[in-house]
This record gives sequence, C-alpha cells and structure tokens, in this order.
Amino acid sequence: MPADTIFHKILRREIPAQIVYEDDDVLAFKDIHPKATTHLLFIAKKDQDFVSSIDDLTEKTAYVPLLLIRKAQAFAKKYGIDGYQLRFHVGRGGGQEVFYLHLHFLSEQKLAD
Ligand code: AMP
Repeated sequence: MPADTIFHKILRREIPAQIVYEDDDVLAFKDIHPKATTHLLFIAKKDQDFVSSIDDLTEKTAYVPLLLIRKAQAFAKKYGIDGYQLRFHVGRGGGQEVFYLHLHFLSEQKLAD
C-alpha cells in the first residue's frame, strides 16, 4: 500500500495548511509548530509514494533533496530573506516525525504578508 502521511493529505487538500508557495513540482507551507519566526516546510509533489526520508533515496529519487533546496533558495530570494537554515531530519533518531521527505526552512526574518 502506498504511504499516506499528513503531508499527503495536505497535498490532496484534505486537511488545511497555510500554503505560501506552489508550482508544478513543490508545495511549501508554514510549520504548525514554528521553531523560528519563519518556519516553512517544502515537499515535492512527485514520487511522494517512494521518498519517505533521506534514508530511502535511490538513483531515481536522488533529485528530490536538491529540488527542494533550489526551490527554497528561489523562495528566499523572491521574498528578500537573506539568512536562513535548511534542515532535513533523518529517521526517528534524527527527530523525523513525518515520513514524507521534507525540507525545513527556518529564518528569524519575517515573511512579508
Ligand atoms: P520532522 O520532525 O522533520 O518530521 O518535521 C515534521 C514537522 O511537521 C514538524 O515540525 C511539525 O510541527 C510539522 N507538522 C506536523 N503536522 C503539521 C500540519 N498539519 N501542518 C503543518 N506542519 C505540520
């Protein structure tokens, strides 16, 4: 059975999220328990059934982390955020709770409304 997580449900619009960016490849939304002034999560739309964690990457899905990083970089540039942290939590021991590969974007700069 394909994986189904809370982020799959956000992607399918079955549960609400504060979406800040979307294109054909990625979705970005605000973390519900922010650890910084701006705390966003970037997820890829494709291959979501196969990429649960950095730990699971294969030749076919190795593009996903770089895609997320590039989208986060473009997002930061667009919104004038020039200082931020990007994090992947890997596995339960690494603090990962949602097994749908996602990139944390944290900044003490506020996202303009
Ligand atoms: P991780 O520990 O890397 O798996 O991060 C999962 C993140 O998802 C945590 O920072 C949670 O606060 C966040 N989160 C969980 N449920 C939701 C939700 N419904 N909407 C937005 N963020 C969420």
